[in-house]
Amino acid sequence: MSNIQSQDPQVQEVIDKELERQNNNIELIASENFVSPAVLEAQGSILTNKYAEGYPGKRYYGGCEHVDVVENLARDRAKEIFGAEHANVQPHSGSQANMAVYFSVLEPGDKVLGMDLSHGGHLTHGSPVNFSGKLFNFLSYGVEKDTETIDYDKVMEIAKKEQPKMIVAGGSAYVKILDFKKFREIADAVGAYLLVDMAHIAGLVAAGLHPNPVPYADFVTSTTHKTLRGPRGGLILTTADHAKAVDKNIFPGIQGGPLMHVIGAKAVAFGEALQPEFKDYQQRVLDNAKALAESLSKGGLRIVSGTTDNHLVLVDVKSLGLTGKAAEEALDEVGITVNKNTIPFDEASPFVTSGIRLGTPAMTTRGFTADDMTEVGHIIVETLTRVKNEESLDGISEKVTKLTGKYPLYK
Ligand code: PLP
Repeated sequence: MSNIQSQDPQVQEVIDKELERQNNNIELIASENFVSPAVLEAQGSILTNKYAEGYPGKRYYGGCEHVDVVENLARDRAKEIFGAEHANVQPHSGSQANMAVYFSVLEPGDKVLGMDLSHGGHLTHGSPVNFSGKLFNFLSYGVEKDTETIDYDKVMEIAKKEQPKMIVAGGSAYVKILDFKKFREIADAVGAYLLVDMAHIAGLVAAGLHPNPVPYADFVTSTTHKTLRGPRGGLILTTADHAKAVDKNIFPGIQGGPLMHVIGAKAVAFGEALQPEFKDYQQRVLDNAKALAESLSKGGLRIVSGTTDNHLVLVDVKSLGLTGKAAEEALDEVGITVNKNTIPFDEASPFVTSGIRLGTPAMTTRGFTADDMTEVGHIIVETLTRVKNEESLDGISEKVTKLTGKYPLYK
């Protein structure tokens, strides 16, 4: 019996039920993944007991000689993976990584140009309900209506007119390859800093399957838990000249003590990302996304931007007469987990939406092949078509558990 079971069966019950859900369902939330048992162990380790305000070699607490080693391992591995001059592995989340970068070089009220949330950007890129939109004067660029792709000449035009102090590239629902060289040219044309938020694509970048923003950007931020397949957390990479400012703005700027157990788990995950198998895994993530997009498209669903170049597939369910909300709920009912998502130029509210966002990192970790993802596409089309025709969903969840049963989780 586990310690949790004997001491607190209520919490154990939640963990057991969540494991069962994760094991039985097809997890297509694009920002989620399944960490390795080693990452899980590091995150659940005694490193959680240690206070270590400051940085390796310069702490405000005694007894940091061992956690210094693990933070240095995480920093060095992050620098090696991405070819960066400096890494800060302390951000508790992607949002805090972005906040620290903004605070490093911007003053409240400064103009920043980021991608529109409804076109694929992120809350922390200037949404009015987020600290970023409240503190800074964010303007946005988006995708073109016909191509659903960024037109870099248009971004240049906006930048030249608005003269932002910083340009933010990257987002949560953009399926095309980002051209960081172009973003650098735009930033240089107006003397702006360039921040690339690679949260979604970091694993692909680590594997060399998406261009690396590090040679072009002043700052690169990421989460560590999406394609990168580490523990939940954030990461900042910078050029050496911004290292001090970034470190100061994480601690003592916006955070207190670092989560040393999470940093230990980041070190383990970064170690995994340096292995040759990681590249194979990321290639399968891409192959699976292509297979899923093709299967959905053949089934009559419209894929935003026409296809996908990364781990994401954005689907316009309006083409079937459904809302994103209804599609998410129906898929939930049969054991397929997705999130409703706005699509570019969406007329529905963010609570309803016209799209769903799918991603392949988690099921690829489970072992799903391109054939399995083609089958997942068939199941999604069948579910949504039946909902549209007001037919019963009976029998579909059995197809889901038959697929997931082939690849047991944490067994
Ligand atoms: N940046 C991007 C592009 C994201 O997609 C996300 C998370 O979804 C974040 C930042 C924020 O990460 P977190 O949820 O860890 O704050």
